[in-house]
Amino acid sequence: MAERNPEAAASGKTGASVVIIGGGVTGLSAGWWLARSGVDVLVLDKGIVGWEASGRNGGGATHAYSPFFMEEQRLWPQMDELLGYPTEYQRHRIRVALDDAQMERFNRIAAIADGQGFKCDYLDRKNLAELVPLVGDNAVGGLFCHYGGHANPQRTTQAYAWALEDHGGRILQHATVTGITVKAGKVCEVVTDRGRFGCEILVIAAGPQTGLLAAMLGAELPLAPARVEMIVTEPVPLMRYGGVDGNGLYGRQTLRGNLAYGGGPHEWIEIDGMQTPPRVTTSLLRHLGRRLAEMFPKAAHVRIIRSWGGIVENTPDGRPVIDRLQDPSNAVLATMSSVGFGLSPATGRVIMELVRDGGCSFANLTPISLARFRGLPADWRERLGWIPVPMTMPAAADAAR
Ligand SMILES: Cc1cc2nc3c(=O)[nH]c(=O)nc-3n(C[C@H](O)[C@H](O)[C@H](O)COP(=O)(O)OP(=O)(O)OC[C@H]3O[C@@H](n4cnc5c(N)ncnc54)[C@H](O)[C@@H]3O)c2cc1C
Repeated sequence: MAERNPEAAASGKTGASVVIIGGGVTGLSAGWWLARSGVDVLVLDKGIVGWEASGRNGGGATHAYSPFFMEEQRLWPQMDELLGYPTEYQRHRIRVALDDAQMERFNRIAAIADGQGFKCDYLDRKNLAELVPLVGDNAVGGLFCHYGGHANPQRTTQAYAWALEDHGGRILQHATVTGITVKAGKVCEVVTDRGRFGCEILVIAAGPQTGLLAAMLGAELPLAPARVEMIVTEPVPLMRYGGVDGNGLYGRQTLRGNLAYGGGPHEWIEIDGMQTPPRVTTSLLRHLGRRLAEMFPKAAHVRIIRSWGGIVENTPDGRPVIDRLQDPSNAVLATMSSVGFGLSPATGRVIMELVRDGGCSFANLTPISLARFRGLPADWRERLGWIPVPMTMPAAADAAR
C-alpha cells in the first residue's frame, strides 16, 4: 500500500504529539481515532501498512468472549461510513457442525451471546442446507448468529490508513524502530533507521514484536509468535451469507465468490529481533483443504488458487494486552493475541481514550492489563507446550503434528 505523501511523512516536521509504532489494524485504528479527534499523530512501520497479520487474516469480527464485544458489534456496521472507505463488512455468522460434539459446543457460544443480549437460532440439517448450499449430508446442524460478521482485511487496513491521513495523521513506511529514548521517566523520542521522531506519548502496537519493543522500556510482555496459514479457492456461486465457519476453520466467502479459510494448528516460531520470519508454504494447507472439503462437500472439487502464511501474536492466556505503563508514564502497549482484526474498531478507540484521558469509558481494562502476568514462570512457553519448530523445515514441522 503506497503512502499518499511519503515526502511529507519523512521530512519537514519530525515527530508528533503521539507516535504509534506499527501500521497494522491496531496502530492504524488508534491513529485514525486520535487524528479524527484532532490529535497530531504519526504511525511508523518497518514495512508497509497491513503487510503483516492485519492484511492476511480471516476477517472475522465475532468475538463474544472479549470485553470489547459490545463495542465491536456496535461499531462494525458503521465503519464504512465513519472511515469513508469500504471495508466489505457483512453481518451475521453461521456455524456448521459435522458431529454432535461440535453441535454441543454451540450451546456455550449461544449462552455467552445470550448473556450479552445477542440471539442465536439452532438450525437443523434442512434449514442449514437452505442457508448454506455447499454443506452436505455429513452436517448434523448449525447455529445462526444474529450478530457478528466479517470484513475484507486488506480493504479495511487501507481504509484505516486513508481515513487517518484524511484527518491529518501521517504514516511513514519502511521505518524500523530500533530504539526508544526515555528522559526523566518519559518517552521523548523514537529512534528509527530513517531518523529520530520526538513524541509526547508513544503507542507500541507492533503485533508479535510488541514484546521486544516493550523490553526497551523495561516492561515484560510475554508473547509467543506462531505461524498460521490461509487458503483461497476458485470462486463458487455466492451464498446468501458469506460468513460461514466450522470444522475448526475460520474464514469467509469473499464478495467475488472465493472461499478464504484458515485455522490451526499453530506452528510456534521464534522471531529474531525486528525481522519477519520466512513464510514458506507448508503442508498445513493440505489439512486446511481437507477440512474445507469436509465442511463444504459440494465445493470439494474446486481448486485452491492461493495460500499464504501470517504470524499471530499470542499472550499466555490468549487475551489482548492494552495498558498504559506507569513508568514511563507516557507509553501505551497494545497487542491483540490473535483476535485483533475484528476488535480493531473498538481497540483503536480504547487506545485513543487511554492516550487522551488515561482510562477507558466503555470497558473494564483490568482483565487485559499487563499486571496479570506478574510472577509468570520464565518457562511459560514450555509449560503450555508452545515449542518452536524450525521455520525452514516444513517436513519436520509436519512430522511433529
Ligand atoms: C492467517 C490469520 C488469520 C487470522 N484471522 C483472524 C480473524 O478472522 N479475526 C481476527 O480478529 N483476527 C484474526 N487474526 C489475527 C489478527 O490478524 C491480528 O490479531 C491483528 O491483525 C493484529 O494487528 P496488529 O496491528 O496488532 O499487529 P500486526 O498486524 O502484526 O501489525 C504490527 C505492525 O508493526 C510493525 N512493526 C513491528 N515491529 C516494528 C518496528 N520495530 N518498527 C516499526 N514497525 C514495526 C509491523 O511491520 C506490522 O505492520 C488472524 C491472523 C492471521 C495471521
